Amino acid sequence: METRILPAQAPETIPTAAEILRAGGLVALPTETVYGLGANGLDEHAVAKIFLAKGRPQDNPLILHVAAPEQIDQLCHSVPEAAYALAKAFWPGPLTMVLPARAFIPRATTAGLPTVALRCPDNAVTREIIRQAGVPVAAPSANLSGKPSTTTAAHVYADHNGRIDAIVDGGPCRVGVESTIVDLTESRPRLLRPGGVTPEQLTAVLGDLTVDKAVTAQIDKDAVVKAPGMKYRHYAPQAPVTIVAGEREQAAAFIRRNFVPGDRVLCFQEELPLYAGCAPLAYGSEADAATLSAGLFAALRELDDPAVHQIYARCPVGGGIAYAVQNRLKKAAAFRIVNPEESP
Ligand code: AMP
Ligand code: MG
Repeated sequence: METRILPAQAPETIPTAAEILRAGGLVALPTETVYGLGANGLDEHAVAKIFLAKGRPQDNPLILHVAAPEQIDQLCHSVPEAAYALAKAFWPGPLTMVLPARAFIPRATTAGLPTVALRCPDNAVTREIIRQAGVPVAAPSANLSGKPSTTTAAHVYADHNGRIDAIVDGGPCRVGVESTIVDLTESRPRLLRPGGVTPEQLTAVLGDLTVDKAVTAQIDKDAVVKAPGMKYRHYAPQAPVTIVAGEREQAAAFIRRNFVPGDRVLCFQEELPLYAGCAPLAYGSEADAATLSAGLFAALRELDDPAVHQIYARCPVGGGIAYAVQNRLKKAAAFRIVNPEESP
């Protein structure tokens, strides 16, 4: 199969992508978070192709992407008021809500759960493709399963050339990490994955939020969890990643002491001068956490190279979007974190 590249601004792109989706094909779509690998979310055969192309475990459900908030009631039942309030505040935008699923949504999409995850992406071309396709579009991050997510069309091409019908090229993604996921099916709203909509923003609308343990700790692969995707190895380059915590100079001294050729350092822009000779790669500026989220996955993909033996990574602290960056980096590191104050 030849994978077509469709520039987002070309006039034929929207109708062509919509037609491929209606016909049961796979189209990678740009969003503000990461590139998604889209298929008709109501067609179980089309959805099966996503799992095949990504090598995704069958028990990991997909997010349905909608063109407008009106689709919430078409796809979900028993919708709490909080869902409408969140849609009003954050859609289109990087927020996914888990709600009770109507029975016609295929098991392939929900992985057999009674719930479904919904999001309205903040990308006008992609929303118009969804609208013209006339169906909700199931779209997980377009990376091969387990690999760092795709934030450019070139990343998608590298993973899927010849295996999917088309890629809509909308340039690099603005947010750069996947959507925030909040579960609204229990008595209290629960954060299942941090992302571009911050816990502080959610709490301001909901007045309440609990954080699922999968956000902060490694989950056993056999565990039954609310967000099944969260128990798998994620976002990881081939080499082991170790987060080096603590104050800048102390962390740099630790890394320089332990560094051997073949290692790489993933750091903040501000830290580059401290790592001369240690093959540093900056993924953004510590002073502006949005640059870290925008640059993280491209950097992890660059380090995904068999010649790299070990990656020392610097991780931002604090809330806001930095909280989502911490979560992805800790997962990429399988929660391996050293503190130089406590280690030689
Ligand atoms: P991805 O789009 O591949 O980055 O991952 C989608 C995430 O949404 C995974 O972590 C899924 O487990 C999660 N997800 C999708 N549907 C549901 C659902 N019904 N309940 C809980 N989590 C879900
Ligand atoms: Mg993913």
